Amino acid sequence: MGKSISKQTIEQIRDSNDIVDVVGAHLQLKRAGTALKALCPFHKEKTPSFTVNQQRQIFHCFGCGAGGDVFKFIMQYENVDFVTALKMLADRAGIRLEFEESSAQTGPSKDSLYKLHDELAQFYNRILLESPSAKSAQTYLQKRNLDKNIIEEF
Ligand code: ZN
Repeated sequence: MGKSISKQTIEQIRDSNDIVDVVGAHLQLKRAGTALKALCPFHKEKTPSFTVNQQRQIFHCFGCGAGGDVFKFIMQYENVDFVTALKMLADRAGIRLEFEESSAQTGPSKDSLYKLHDELAQFYNRILLESPSAKSAQTYLQKRNLDKNIIEEF
């Protein structure tokens, strides 16, 4: 498992799959006040105790205690793991699942690249200010009335 899905993508998938639509595709939801109710798919019952809260995007069954968000519903209903549920819901919303490398240790890290860049910049700066071979560059800069601070900055 060298790959993972970014939190951002997970949020995007969650936002694009209204739990009422997803559950409603599998169960017959009936509005009861502010809640939506259905016969629970996770235990046997004759009166609906399975509720969906659209505002909070969660489901809960007062009969068997099952509950969670849209991913949890698909995981339990389809009997799949989290990644499979993610894929199913991404497909449903037309979102391309982007896996990011979680092992960023291959190749130089950003930090060491920045450091190298800094060192190079200092190196060239020193040549420009001190090296006699950079005389023409120095006179050029002096001609343009740049003071030493700006040259150093540059
Ligand atoms: Zn239940």
